[in-house]
Amino acid sequence: MTEHRARKRFGQNFLSDPNIIRKIIDAIRPVAGETMVEIGPGLGAMTDPLVERLGHLHVVEIDRDLIARLQERYTLEHLTIHQGDALKFDFGQLGAPLRVVGNLPYNISTPLLFHLAAYAGQVSDMTFMLQKEVVMRMVAEPGTDDYGRLSVMLQYRFRMGRLFDVPPGAFRPAPKVTSSIVRMVPLPPEQLAAQDEGLLESIVAAAFGQRRKTLRNTLRDFLDERDFAALGLDPGLRGERLSVAEYIAIANHVAMKSK
Ligand code: SAM
Repeated sequence: MTEHRARKRFGQNFLSDPNIIRKIIDAIRPVAGETMVEIGPGLGAMTDPLVERLGHLHVVEIDRDLIARLQERYTLEHLTIHQGDALKFDFGQLGAPLRVVGNLPYNISTPLLFHLAAYAGQVSDMTFMLQKEVVMRMVAEPGTDDYGRLSVMLQYRFRMGRLFDVPPGAFRPAPKVTSSIVRMVPLPPEQLAAQDEGLLESIVAAAFGQRRKTLRNTLRDFLDERDFAALGLDPGLRGERLSVAEYIAIANHVAMKSK
């Protein structure tokens, strides 16, 4: 088969280091019979060992050339190929409990994480390789530079852990940046305490929209001085100082007020 030329627009950097591939598969710990979907199988670096251990795997891939290669290598019994954009893919159709894995295309990683967050209710866990800088933002603690909208909205729904880093040399072609493996486990639904998640999302977006401004300014459409006092929050703070629990308290206070 002719060699596949990596397409930049699809964020194609293919894993080629067998030790790293083994380490990632060990971290995923696939068990025969589980329902799993791999986003962006590419040339199959992770697909091969996953199919071997699971017996069957779903994949979502956008590149038709890569799909043609996968179709030649696998029978339908072992691999179900969904051709298309993972950003628009309905993961709900794969059933529950669903495990999601992937060496994600870095150019769409943030919107893809928000898209996947909507399926948290049917997912048992997700393990991804992402640009390290994005993983640092996902797992960041309040008060740090990395802490932002992505941290709050993902930590609201998932327990997250950065497992290990992967150097550029593990890929062909090598990317410019270091990657990290992150595991995301959805929190039980009873722990998702926001009465109105859309409102929580709007408040968090406003609080981090202008990072240098204080909450008094960024949240003026939601809270007045009396609300800050009732919540026990200093309006002179910036958004990066508040914990996920404090954002939930703000959203629930605003939801109560408008009732
Ligand atoms: N999993 C392979 C590996 O580890 O070598 C390939 C990883 S490569 C970083 C990203 C893969 O995602 C490519 O196969 C690319 O074609 C695919 N991809 C890019 N954008 C996509 C999208 N929007 N939906 C689905 N797959 C996409």
